[in-house]
Amino acid sequence: MKTFDLSALQKPCECGRQHTLAVKDIIIEHDALTKLKDMLKDGILSGYSHPVILCDSNTLKAARGQMEEVIAALPVLELSPEGLHANNEGVALVEERIDRQADLILALGSGTIHDLSRYVAHEMGIDFVACPTASSVDGFVSTVAAMTWNGMKATLPAVAPVYVIADTTVLSKAPYRLTASGMSDLFGKYTALVDWRVAHLVTGEYICERICRMELDAINEVKECMAGLKSGDEEAHSRLMYALLLSGLAMQMVGNSRPASCAEHHMSHFWEMKVLNEELDALHGEKVGVGLLLVTREYHALERRIREGSCSVREWTGIEFDRIRDSFGKKGLYDATIKENTPDPMEGIKASDLEAKLTGIADIIRDGLPEEKELEDLLRRGGCCVTVGDIGLSEDIIPPSLELSCYVRNRLSLMRLKKMLVY
Ligand SMILES: [Zn+2]
Ligand SMILES: [Zn+2]
Repeated sequence: MKTFDLSALQKPCECGRQHTLAVKDIIIEHDALTKLKDMLKDGILSGYSHPVILCDSNTLKAARGQMEEVIAALPVLELSPEGLHANNEGVALVEERIDRQADLILALGSGTIHDLSRYVAHEMGIDFVACPTASSVDGFVSTVAAMTWNGMKATLPAVAPVYVIADTTVLSKAPYRLTASGMSDLFGKYTALVDWRVAHLVTGEYICERICRMELDAINEVKECMAGLKSGDEEAHSRLMYALLLSGLAMQMVGNSRPASCAEHHMSHFWEMKVLNEELDALHGEKVGVGLLLVTREYHALERRIREGSCSVREWTGIEFDRIRDSFGKKGLYDATIKENTPDPMEGIKASDLEAKLTGIADIIRDGLPEEKELEDLLRRGGCCVTVGDIGLSEDIIPPSLELSCYVRNRLSLMRLKKMLVY
């Protein structure tokens, strides 16, 4: 089984920063949740007097066999999984029902339960422990909560878990769709890293090579264990959870999601905000995987144009207020979108400077991003969603999504920089 050396990650780094982690220990083991009882009685969790379990009906069922006595002994806040999201309504449900004396939340579930737990724990000023029941996202150890707040995707202040207890027995039995979604979320790091490197090249934005390597290690780890995931092999599931947590730790070390999320996640968030589409029955990673392929196609097309010498640069004329009004505005999200884009991350980028960096951008794409076909084969091999049709969207949403999704977050992506390129 895979283990982390958390103290090694906090040694002085080549980037000049000393990275710190909030999580104290990570346990990825066979039957890990069966040890919860002793951890609460006289182990690492014995200092808490009022722990509560936060879960939904599916995740409670998935873990019940592993922690029968703990479930019987502690207050259990069981939510209905129907229509449960990390949003205002979800938070209200938890805050209405949670025991005000609680001094620890045991988050038993996948991404949504964890986002709700880390947000509510932060609001209440208490700790939480991550007990993932599926390897579905890389955000288990995140310090921020990815929420939909008043219809807008937002990253809200939250707390990281003090411990992660990942039970591979439970993870290996999770619905395969959740596992495939976790895989897709990790493959999304390909474009996230390209975007980070391009932003660093163009604006001098901070970057840490060691953290980039952690994300690449996470991708490689998954590639190596894909076959075993399908057959429910516990070692493979241990490796996938390790990779997801490695990516989460990378984010914790930087203090934001820069290493793990950019243009491909913007596409996913854009669809989640339902700017041009109806509510989708698709998981986070499924949308990220589809976004990854669409962005990859655009980036490689751009690389070819740069090499051919048929790409010119124009001055940036500012964010497209009219287009934002005609899209986000129709869903009541105009003001929030403008606020998110202030200050404009493109401000101060000169056409002549960008022109001089085009070859550098092409090199970053060539060196860091596999061809679309290769990534598509990878996703197909993992049984992941690949086309917009797979996640319930029609083809005509592709062009506007590529154009508008960069406005969901104030973060420089090559997708946004492309607005200055003519080819
Ligand atoms: Zn560093
Ligand atoms: Zn993600």
